[in-house]
Amino acid sequence: MELDLQDRLETVSVLLPIPADRPYSYAVPEAMNLVPGDFVQVPLGPRKVAAVVWEPTDDDNPVDPAKLRLVEQRFDCPPLTRAMRDFVDWVAHYTVSPAGMVLRSVLRAPGALDPEAPMEGLRFRGGEPERMTDARRRVLELLHEHEGMAWTRSGLAHAAGTSSSVIDGLSKQGLFEPVLIPAPPVVPTPVETADKPQLRDEQDTAASVLVTRVAEDRFSTTLLDGVTGSGKTEVYLEAIAASLAQNRQILVLLPEIALTTTFLERFEERFGAQPASWHSGLAPKMRERVWRQVATGQVRIVVGARSALFLPFRELGLIVVDEEHDGAYKQEDRVFYNARDMAVVRASLGGFPCILSSATPSIESRVNVENGRYGHVKLVERHADAVLPELLTIDMRKDPPPRGKFLSPVLTQAIEGALGRNEQALLFLNRRGYAPLTLCRVCGFRFECNNCSAWLVEHRFRNQLQCHHCGHNEPVPEACTNCGTLDHLAACGPGVERLAEEVDIDFPDARIIVLSSDMLGGVNRLRLELEAIAKGEVDIVIGTQLVAKGHNFPLMTCVGVVDADLGLANGDPRAAERTFQLLSQVTGRAGRAGGKSIGLLQTYAPEHPVIAAIANGNRKAFYEREIGLRRAAGLPPFARLVSIIISGTDKREAESHALALRKAAPKVDDIMLLGPAEAPMALVRGRFRYRLLVHTSRSFDVQAYLRSWIANGPKERGSLRVQIDVDPQSFL
Ligand code: ADP
Ligand code: ZN
Repeated sequence: MELDLQDRLETVSVLLPIPADRPYSYAVPEAMNLVPGDFVQVPLGPRKVAAVVWEPTDDDNPVDPAKLRLVEQRFDCPPLTRAMRDFVDWVAHYTVSPAGMVLRSVLRAPGALDPEAPMEGLRFRGGEPERMTDARRRVLELLHEHEGMAWTRSGLAHAAGTSSSVIDGLSKQGLFEPVLIPAPPVVPTPVETADKPQLRDEQDTAASVLVTRVAEDRFSTTLLDGVTGSGKTEVYLEAIAASLAQNRQILVLLPEIALTTTFLERFEERFGAQPASWHSGLAPKMRERVWRQVATGQVRIVVGARSALFLPFRELGLIVVDEEHDGAYKQEDRVFYNARDMAVVRASLGGFPCILSSATPSIESRVNVENGRYGHVKLVERHADAVLPELLTIDMRKDPPPRGKFLSPVLTQAIEGALGRNEQALLFLNRRGYAPLTLCRVCGFRFECNNCSAWLVEHRFRNQLQCHHCGHNEPVPEACTNCGTLDHLAACGPGVERLAEEVDIDFPDARIIVLSSDMLGGVNRLRLELEAIAKGEVDIVIGTQLVAKGHNFPLMTCVGVVDADLGLANGDPRAAERTFQLLSQVTGRAGRAGGKSIGLLQTYAPEHPVIAAIANGNRKAFYEREIGLRRAAGLPPFARLVSIIISGTDKREAESHALALRKAAPKVDDIMLLGPAEAPMALVRGRFRYRLLVHTSRSFDVQAYLRSWIANGPKERGSLRVQIDVDPQSFL
């Protein structure tokens, strides 16, 4: 008898982690029961792929199920929730990316789809060993004390304070039966401890607002806006405690997850256990375990980088985005998204509150407070006797540094003062290496990267010229590569290494450290150095923006910004905002433990409104002015920008593709198109780049517009690539 497959097989929509916009149809084997959200394995060409059952798509011409390939396996894993599926679709829609590429961020730990293998363990059978020793006695005491308990070999040895060989010896004598123990949690379950600080009045008020939001158990966004050191973390820990008490999972996003030791410790004091962390540096096995335990609900709190938004939470009830203004939240690779904004979306789809925390909120968030979309909670005082540093500008035209140097005498005196009181000084310069530019004094030749439109940065310590965009490096030459003259190369401008040289001459007895992201030894070394600074083992810290973030240095009383104008020079619409945020954060490192402290800004334009606002500590003036300017200029958040980068290895091909794309743009009144123009970084990693900028009102459906434009426009071929960046942060 012939089987009528059509009657027997059902079809199912499956979203695959590939650059496809829509789910694919598969047939379901008879014995398999599938619901949307189930993790499955399906065939794709010759491969087997882990994927997720999606909502059924209404297909105009359904495929005959008999012709479809079969779902091979349903994984034994809790399904991806409806809110998460909606989130994947939402992010794909908003960023104009294939849904499958967004799903790829969810399926980041394929091994986690199968249950964790249980561990081999031992259970006490009873009896006595032939020969008793002290160590054996201790083990037996424990075993009697916890009768019926399953132990791991090493766990039992550890608890009894002996070596594993003692356990093995007892094992040989048949005292144990083998058992399987479920894999342990990656972190213990957090429980509120009594160890919580007495909140000040304004903290208490702020905390109770946030706790109320949590109790409401519906979507809301609140900006927690408080100066550095005002206790924002203490305040949002209250909200986390409240959410924990409701049995919800909690996600805390941090921009620099690798450097969060102190943060994790504070957490541990408060909840008796550290939260699980999620970032790109996790070992693969740990990654799988965290993912799995988030999915099963065993992990209650995750502290993570932006990709943690795509973890398969079952019962997420709160997201906190710390340092919400931070540029590190923007992903500029494959799917271009801002994790801060997507956190708000995730909360709205999940129907729970979101807290955005910052000492220098983004203009976007401030505007959302003004128009009533976000709630606003403020902290205006620093904790205890810690006072904000006194901020002053140093007019470099009036008090210039000595010839060939970069620090004004005003700043060196301030450093001297701090060192004299056994306090610390921090010099901030956002430039890695020794000098940002090397040129030939004879012919004027500038050393540039061959693959990028960028100068090569001298790193004297490594004796290299490096490109900070593609990583190209070459030894520092003795002769000019252009004119061949020997020994006439000049280093132009300072980097942190060069500052260290100057400081070393001026303060020969001081203990100096340079901190920058390319430091040898990576994150672990950096962690140690930060601890050493906090303990007072260093006198002068010289650092790039790495030092601006969240660290607590109790002895730091003098902060010098070497080039306050640096960030204002580029033509980026967010230059003022970024400078304000960065310099406020940097100077906020000073005076966190009470006593007098000072922040000095070296500038050639002390009258510049941004510099003046920082120096006067006038946050309100800065925001009012900046928001006014954005509104008047029709810039975000009062309008929407989309940047389209067209790139290719052949310059003419890239340019003509950009022109053809521009030509194919549907004509619509609401849209203003700029370009194509050569991008400011016209060459990166050997790819020539052109940029189109789309400017539109916020109400216009720019995603639909972009989709139909790209779909009907010229096709990408060869090395050509079109990248769409909705709400761009970078204009390079
Ligand atoms: P922010 O996140 O605003 O920079 P933190 O929450 O890190 O501020 O607080 C700064 C410092 O003050 C931390 O060491 C914190 O433990 C301490 N602190 C803040 N509020 C209190 C409080 N109510 N009681 C005791 N210590 C506090
Ligand atoms: Zn390069």
